[in-house]
Amino acid sequence: MNDDDDGPATAIMNTYQRLPVTFSHGDGAYLFDTQGKRYLDALCGISVTNLGHNYPAVTKAIKHQAESLLHTSNLYHIAPQQMLAQKLCSLAGMDSVFFANSGAEANEAAIKLARLHAFNQAKAAGAESNPLILTFSNSFHGRTLATLTATGNKKIKTGFGPLPEGFICTQYNDIQAAEQVFAEHGENIAGLLIEIVQGEGGIHPAVPEYLHQLQALCQQHNALFMVDEIQTGNGRCGSYFAYQALGLSPDVVTTAKGLGNGVPVGACLARGAAAKTLQPGTHGSTFGGNPLATAAALAVVNAIEDQQLSARAASLGEDMKSAFATSFADNAAVIDIRGMGLMMGIELDRPCGELVAQALEAGVLINVTADSVIRLLPPLILSDEEARQIVVTVCDLVNRFTQEKRTGTDG
Ligand code: PLP
Repeated sequence: MNDDDDGPATAIMNTYQRLPVTFSHGDGAYLFDTQGKRYLDALCGISVTNLGHNYPAVTKAIKHQAESLLHTSNLYHIAPQQMLAQKLCSLAGMDSVFFANSGAEANEAAIKLARLHAFNQAKAAGAESNPLILTFSNSFHGRTLATLTATGNKKIKTGFGPLPEGFICTQYNDIQAAEQVFAEHGENIAGLLIEIVQGEGGIHPAVPEYLHQLQALCQQHNALFMVDEIQTGNGRCGSYFAYQALGLSPDVVTTAKGLGNGVPVGACLARGAAAKTLQPGTHGSTFGGNPLATAAALAVVNAIEDQQLSARAASLGEDMKSAFATSFADNAAVIDIRGMGLMMGIELDRPCGELVAQALEAGVLINVTADSVIRLLPPLILSDEEARQIVVTVCDLVNRFTQEKRTGTDG
C-alpha cells in the first residue's frame, strides 16, 4: 500500500470508493502493488481477468494486433471480429453477434433488439407495439439510463429520473409472480432479461426449473428470453455460458467482463429470428468489435476452450465450496455458501464490508456485495494451492471477524 494513493485521484470524479492501493503489475493469479507487495487475486477485477494477469497468448495477440492494425471502423470488414463472432456463435449455439464495449452497452443492444423485434412483429400484423421488458428484483444490468432502469435495485436509480418507460420488474425466483405479469401484460412483453446467477445482488443463482418455466412463458407469448451473462459467462460458472449447464436455449445472450480478460469488449448474441432483427442503421458503435478488442477476445475464448477452463471452474468451485462448508461448519454466523463454478458467495448474518480491507492487508483481494455477502471470483487458472490459500485466508478472517463481533456484543 502506498501513502500517496489519495493524491492522483483528486482530478477524477468521485464515483468510486477506492481501497488505498495502486497495482503496478500482475502475473497469473497475483497482483503486485507499487511497493512490491504481492496479493492473491480472488476477484479478477469483478470477473474480468478470468485467465489471470498477463496471460501469454492474450498478451501476444494484443501485441501482434497493435503492431498491425488498431482500428478501421465498422464501415469495413474486420477479420478478428468475424472470427470471434463465428467462434462465440458455435460455442453458444447462437446465430449472430453485435459487438459493444461494455456490459451495459451489450444490454442496451439486447433491449433495443427486443423492442425492434416486437415493433416488427406488430407492424407485420398491422398493429402498434407497446413493448415491455420484464426484469427481476435484486438484478443488476448496468449504469446507462436504460440498463439502470432494467436493474431491480431502487438505490441506483435515485436522482436519475425521468427514466425510460417500458420496463416492468417482478420478483426473482417466483414463477407465480412472473405468470401474473404475463397474464396481465403478455401481448406487450417484448422480452425478459435475467441473470442466471445474480452477481451484484449477492450471488443468488436462479432455480433451474424456474428458468425453464420462464423460457416456456416467453415461447408461449412470443417474447424473447434474454440472459445477462456479463458476469457469469466466459467459463466462470463451469460451462462457457451458465445457461448451457442448465439446458436452456435463450434467444439473446449478453456478455462482457471476462470476454476480453481486461480489454473492454461486450457482445450481444442472438438466435433464430432475433439474430436478424438488427439491420443497417438500427444500431452501431464506433469502437464496438474493433480489431484490437476482438483479437484479444478471440485469444481469450480460444484459451478458455483449449485449456478446458470451464470444466476446471466447475470442479474447483465445488472443491472450494465444500472446503468453506467444512471450515464454517461450527460458525453459526455463516448462513449460506452458494454459487456456480468459480462464482461464489459466502453470506454472513451481519454486514461485513470491513473484511475487504482486512483481506487486502492479508494479501488477498475479495469483495463484499449486498452488504453481507463475501463475493469470490478467482481466476479460472487458479492452482489447487492458490485455491487453498484463498480458503484458509477467508476462513481465518471470517472466523476472527464473527468471533470478535460476538465477543464485542456479549461484553
Ligand atoms: N450486467 C451484469 C450482470 C453485471 O454484473 C454488470 C457489471 O457488473 C453489468 C451488466 C454492467 O457491465 P459494465 O460495467 O461492463 O457496463
